[in-house]
Parts: sequence; C-alpha cells; structure tokens
Amino acid sequence: MLDLTPKGEYERTALRINPCKTCQPVGAMYAALGVHGCMPYSHGSQGCASYHRTFLSRHFKEPAIAATSSFTEGASVFGGGSNLRTGARNVFDVYNPEIIAVHTTCLSETIGDDMNAYIQDLDIPEGKHVIHTNTPSYVGSHINGYFNMMSGFIRYLSAKSEIHNGRVAVFPGFVNPGDMREIRRMAKAMKTPITLFPDTSGVMDAPMTGHFAMYPQGGTPLGDVIGLGDCMKTIALGELTSEEPAIELERKCGVDYDLLPLPIGIDATDRFLMTLAKSFNRDVPYELEEERGQLVDVMLDAHFYLVGKRVAIFGDPDTVIGLTAFALELGLVPAYVLTGTPGERFDRRVKKLLAAAGVDEETVRVKSSGDLFELHQWMMDAPVDLMIGTSYGKQIAKALDVPFVRAGFPILDRYAHPYFPIVGYRGALRLFEQIANAVMDRQDRDCADEDLEVVM
Ligand code: SF4
Repeated sequence: MLDLTPKGEYERTALRINPCKTCQPVGAMYAALGVHGCMPYSHGSQGCASYHRTFLSRHFKEPAIAATSSFTEGASVFGGGSNLRTGARNVFDVYNPEIIAVHTTCLSETIGDDMNAYIQDLDIPEGKHVIHTNTPSYVGSHINGYFNMMSGFIRYLSAKSEIHNGRVAVFPGFVNPGDMREIRRMAKAMKTPITLFPDTSGVMDAPMTGHFAMYPQGGTPLGDVIGLGDCMKTIALGELTSEEPAIELERKCGVDYDLLPLPIGIDATDRFLMTLAKSFNRDVPYELEEERGQLVDVMLDAHFYLVGKRVAIFGDPDTVIGLTAFALELGLVPAYVLTGTPGERFDRRVKKLLAAAGVDEETVRVKSSGDLFELHQWMMDAPVDLMIGTSYGKQIAKALDVPFVRAGFPILDRYAHPYFPIVGYRGALRLFEQIANAVMDRQDRDCADEDLEVVM
C-alpha cells in the first residue's frame, strides 16, 4: 500500500497528489440542498453534475438531486445562455421546485457566462425564484462553494422589513445533518429561537418512507431565508466558512454578526451557548450543564490513555480547527494539522490554538493548501499514534499501521455517520469515545498477553 511514496519532501506548487479537498460546486450543491424545495442546478456539463451528485451521495448515502445545463460543444463555443433557459423551463415544468439555485462550473466560468444577465432574461413562473453563485473550481475548494452559495441566497432573497423577527440566524458551517440537528436541539433546550441556514437535516438524512419525495420535509424554509434580514443578529459558526455570508447579510440588511469556531469540544461549545444565552438574556439549562459535566467526567476518567499521544488531523479547515482544539483539551499532541483548502488564516488560527495550549508551534507542522501525499511523507519521517480525518487518509493509516478515527467530509467507507453529531457536548462525547477506543484497541492489540486489561 502506497509503497512508492518517497521519504523526504520537496516543495510542490503546481501539483496536488491525493488532495484534501474537492471542487467548489460540491459545496454549492450541498448548501442548496439545505433549503426546502430547492433544486440545485449545475451550469456546465453533465459530467460535472454527475461528479458533484455522486460525491455527496457517497458521503450521505442519500440521493442528491440536481439538474444541469448539459453543455456540449455548442455551449462551450457560444456560451450557455440558451441551455440555461431551456434547462430552467424544463426543471420548473417537470420537477416544480420553489427555487432553482444555479452554480457555475469550470467550463462556464472559463467561457465567462454572464449569469446575472442570463437569469434576468429567464421566464420565471409567478412565486418561484432562480438565484445563482459563481463557483470556479480552480479557486478554493468545496468550502468556498458552500459559502458562496449561502451568500447567493442572501444576495438574491434576504430582505429587511420594519420589525425584528425575534430570532438569531445561525450559520452552521459545513457540517453533517446530524450536527445541524444538534445545533437546533441545543438552541431549543436554551429556549432561544433560531433560523438555521442552511439546514440539510431532513434532506440528506431523510427517513425511508417507501415513497420517493423529490423535496423531503427538511431544509430551511424559503420564507426563513428571506427573513434572515429581520434576525436580531447572526451567529456564524466556522470562521473560515461562515464569515462571508455573515458579511453579506450585514451588508445587505444591517444584521450584526458574532464569529465563532465550530462548536467542537468544550470551549467552543461553551462559547456558542454563552453567545446564545447573552443574545436572549437566558441561562444555560441544567440539561446542557449535565451533558457538559458528563463529558468532563469521561475525559478525566480516561485521560492517561490519551495524554501525550501524537495525532495527525486533516480535512476541512473549520472542522480541523475544531478537532485540533478538542485534541488539545484531551491532552493529545497535534503533530500534523493540514487542510487542502487554501488560506493562511487557517495556519494563524491553528497556531493561536497551539500557543494558548502552551504547545511550541515549531514542533507542529501546520499547513493549508496541503495534500495527503505530503502528510504521508511527514508521517514517514516522524510517526504519529493516531490519525483523525476523512476517508482519504485510509490508505496512509493502513500503510503505516496507524489507528484511524474518521471525522469530517467526506467519509465514504462507513455508514450512519451523518446522523451523529460531532458538535456540542454530545458530539464531543461521541468523538471522545471513538478516539479513546482507537487508542485502547491499539494497546490491546500490541500488548503482551499478560498485560491485556479487562477492567480499565
Ligand atoms: S470540471 Fe471543474 S466543476 Fe466540473 S467536476 Fe471538474 S473541477 Fe468540478
């Protein structure tokens, strides 16, 4: 397995090997699926749309609906305006969505299709909507596509009226439906009304009913997307994912925002709940205090198995920042922290976390715009005790025989994970269990027979 990966590394700028990201439209499609009654629409070739849908379906094990402009040679030469006109008409006629959310692709971006002009030219049925965002895949990653699509919804739809709606808008970051459910559950326990946008719960974790529903029950209602402009404030979770749409909402409707990390681990969850509590002048209920106390209890119980273990963490930037913060809370020592999404802000944020925990940043390799080939090379040079990240680390874990905890996006080789949160105290408890089990399983496997513990 991966026998040809050479030891030592050299600087690569024009080549990614085993990338730690995917293309912008995947994120745009996922954000669009988080709005009820929305048909994501890929303005490009059928191959792109197939890839984006397949990528999402393999992670969520759910159908990811989407339409496409189906570019052929003609559109590549003359532009995709007529394809979009025909495509949008067909989608409204055949699939009857409330809204079509168009994202571009490499091809339509390279042609330079003027999406604003095309959409103004469309014959949109009464009461229906078409919005768009630009998602050139040679820039950024699926994370950029996700926040660009959120900004597209806000730019086209969100409006401010005379009165506040008494809610706080919460932008959840690029997380699973299980995380979105957990954020809503915590807000409900706090008795703090929120508009979660987008919300893929009930869409990408919809139940089996025996009947296919093109538009499952979940998703942020369109009225709530419009009503974002009337929210008291925005809590933007995930500093690198959610700030752009929060800025867009502030610019368009004057809604202030608080920028917080994804609530992964104790401190980040505390900050989220305290921000909610302050926004509504509420106390944190005992139900959540109890969950926090239980988490601290198990962390203390098992800390001696984890303290000092070296860990490699990789995946999407905000998820990796959250996992790194939680790893530090557990006493793990981050050795390698890597994301494929570009942005030096990631490096700064991780180094700040390390400094706050008293870890010498010179001992940790932190990298944005990285790939898993170089992570493998780093690990060949100086091994780790544990890997935490996406399914694409699986071959490295096997090649180097390292315990591996799957977290983040995508996880292609496991089932049910999108239902379980990693955010909040409950999410951290589950992460803790996975991490501790992986380390303890390794200890059991490697120890002498007489040292095999039954009662820990
Ligand atoms: S051509 Fe571009 S948009 Fe299409 S799948 Fe490839 S990277 Fe994504």
